[in-house]
Amino acid sequence: MIDTGFLSPCERRALIFAMWTAALVASALVGSFLNVVIYRGPVMWGLVDDQDGTRGNLLGPRSYCPSCKQPIKYYFLIPILGYAALRGKCAACKAPISPRYPLVELAAVAIAGVSILLFGFATPALLSTLLGWTLLVLAVIDLETGYLPDWLTLPLIAFGLAANASSMFVSWQQAIIGSIAGAAAFWALGALWRRWRGVDALGLGDAKLMAALGAWAGATALPAIVFVASVASLVVVFIISRLRGVSVGATDPLPFGPGLCVGGYGVFLLMQAGVAA
Ligand SMILES: [Zn+2]
Repeated sequence: MIDTGFLSPCERRALIFAMWTAALVASALVGSFLNVVIYRGPVMWGLVDDQDGTRGNLLGPRSYCPSCKQPIKYYFLIPILGYAALRGKCAACKAPISPRYPLVELAAVAIAGVSILLFGFATPALLSTLLGWTLLVLAVIDLETGYLPDWLTLPLIAFGLAANASSMFVSWQQAIIGSIAGAAAFWALGALWRRWRGVDALGLGDAKLMAALGAWAGATALPAIVFVASVASLVVVFIISRLRGVSVGATDPLPFGPGLCVGGYGVFLLMQAGVAA
């Protein structure tokens, strides 16, 4: 925390307001960058084919409309407001723009806001925000491609263990046992399912994500995370089957990653807030 003892109450309120504004505006800009990672990351990491070779990398080219390839004017790239000003349509060709863009930006702002409310303007808030943003990117990439990239899950394990080496969120013992137990439980569950159904319903990516959640939230959080993730996944399956008008069969791969991301972050925040646990 920053020492504000030398400020008058009025000055202190002004400073806190300025810090909140800066944090939330910066988060919206990061949310805009997360959209780029979600769109271009899976191509860069070789997980999906870039049919027309136009997705580019994280640095370029400039953002453009996927329909008409026109570059998007810089003032329409302002997070959330740009989408609202365009009313969700490309300025050039009027093709609809996915609501995913403003939703990811709003989620990025919400993640930072909740983290600051919970931890104040301090290091744990920053790390909690980084965890939330990474899980957000993982959830959307898994929904769109069915992959949980190692480029995100493996660093997340390392950062969780590093943060808890000084027992920031949970004890380091909890973190180490959590990461091993999380991976082992998911690997075993996936192997059982394969023998029973003959398909890979749970991928290795799920096991790595579970290891990361165990490293951040601790071993005792794992049962709650699996429970919330299962309920969330069933809801996702229900929505997908309704939207597409098809039933999701028992042998279809389960979209478990997005549920794990949402469930994992929710349980992490609740346990840190002292509501659960
Ligand atoms: Zn267009």
